[in-house]
Amino acid sequence: MDGADFLIIGGGIAGLSAAARLAAHGKVIVLEAEDALGYHSSGRSVSFSHYGIGNEAVRALTRHSRPFFEHQPEGFCDTPIAWLSPSLYFAEEAALPRLDAQMANMAELVDTLEPLDAAALVRLCPVIKAGPGAAMRGLLDPTGLKLDADALLQSFSRQLRARGGEIRLGRQVEKIERRGDAWIVNDAVAAQVLVNAAGAWGDRVAVLAGVTPLGLEPKRRTVIAVDPGMDMTGWPFVHSVGGDFYMLPEAGLLLVSPVDEVPDEPCDAQPDDYDVAFAADRLEHYTMLKVARIAHRWAGLRTFTSDRTPTAGFAPDAPGFFWLCGQGGYGLQTAPAMATAVESLIAGTAWPLANIAPARIAPGRLLAR
Ligand SMILES: Cc1cc2nc3c(=O)[nH]c(=O)nc-3n(C[C@H](O)[C@H](O)[C@H](O)COP(=O)(O)OP(=O)(O)OC[C@H]3O[C@@H](n4cnc5c(N)ncnc54)[C@H](O)[C@@H]3O)c2cc1C
Repeated sequence: MDGADFLIIGGGIAGLSAAARLAAHGKVIVLEAEDALGYHSSGRSVSFSHYGIGNEAVRALTRHSRPFFEHQPEGFCDTPIAWLSPSLYFAEEAALPRLDAQMANMAELVDTLEPLDAAALVRLCPVIKAGPGAAMRGLLDPTGLKLDADALLQSFSRQLRARGGEIRLGRQVEKIERRGDAWIVNDAVAAQVLVNAAGAWGDRVAVLAGVTPLGLEPKRRTVIAVDPGMDMTGWPFVHSVGGDFYMLPEAGLLLVSPVDEVPDEPCDAQPDDYDVAFAADRLEHYTMLKVARIAHRWAGLRTFTSDRTPTAGFAPDAPGFFWLCGQGGYGLQTAPAMATAVESLIAGTAWPLANIAPARIAPGRLLAR
């Protein structure tokens, strides 16, 4: 039987970022079911950090994570892990009140927001349909950050290994037992602290361990990639404030999503034809582009708690069982802050998150409902 101080189930961004920090305090082993890191949600995201998404706790976690992305730790990665990329929100007539509400929300965190009229929308992204019957006004957040998800996953893994930690791929956790004061996983590894960072499978892992599930809700989101046949240099990450469309340029293609949230089971999520067609429809509705061919399509799961706030904390009903789940659509942009919260709660370092009490992200709040 192998032993570890901290055993982490899940090699996505949540598990790996926490593993890298915990490795400073003891032996860490990460067990990942797939043969590659980030195979599920973490490798399927559009990898952005911005304040236009999530509740007040998510925005605070995003803000606490910014310094990590803006000034990555010495030796963390040879290439940039993040770069400035503005975010633009636009509204047709009916959605103008939502635009104003979005602006008020974001102004609490960003003091450089720019209101945009229809002409300014077109200057920033020439394909947007603007004017009467189309986008009337908008808002630019110049502080958006494009993240490199692969660089983050690889760099956290390197940091973990450099601190003596181990990642075991192709190790699906199928059996979890409590013996004495240790958790025994797959009859192979024993640890005092078991961290459940299994993403969409978080509740299933809890059930294996005899722990009360939190009612996690995996929701599928679809992305298509199209070639608009034009130079997209300088285009921002464009969102309809009504919440049914976004697009952003990446590697010469335009990524487009209908911002779907379709309830799903934990699985290797695949794009549904209807959602793919809806993505193309939204692109043609909001822009002058026509979709002749879809170069790629994919789907991934965004897994939410009932209050849409990520969770980190010990299960109230099982000693040593730690929840790190429910990252929703913000798992990358909140990972540095969540990892420091995990370190504090498990290793006893100072609480790092001003304005967010541990109870705000503790799993107990979800069980009490
Ligand atoms: C289309 C899309 C766009 C997104 N865009 C953004 C964005 O712009 N910004 C942002 O911050 N977030 C974004 N997200 C959300 C982000 O991807 C997730 O919040 C994040 O990846 C969740 O990370 P995770 O580590 O919890 O889950 P995962 O990456 O899914 O990792 C969980 C891992 O646990 C493993 N596992 C499960 N069960 C077991 C078991 N029994 N044994 C061993 N291993 C197991 C799985 O194989 C998996 O690798 C997006 C998501 C999608 C789908």
